[in-house]
Amino acid sequence: MAENRVVEGRMVTPVTLAELIEGDRPMDAEDITDADRECPECGGNVLEVGYMPSVTEFVTGYKCQGCEWAETDR
Ligand SMILES: [Zn+2]
Repeated sequence: MAENRVVEGRMVTPVTLAELIEGDRPMDAEDITDADRECPECGGNVLEVGYMPSVTEFVTGYKCQGCEWAETDR
């Protein structure tokens, strides 16, 4: 079951969180989890989401809940 979370004051789903990280809407995304790390910019909580930008690619993305910082495992 997908759990929505709040990022930068907005509710996000796994797909819309991945879209924030990637800049494009992914084909599919897994549930959002808490990453075991802090944001290097503001020290805020970092969320983790796995998603498929294309049929042949799987990316793990990280996004701070409090600021614009985001990163992927590419
Ligand atoms: Zn941050």
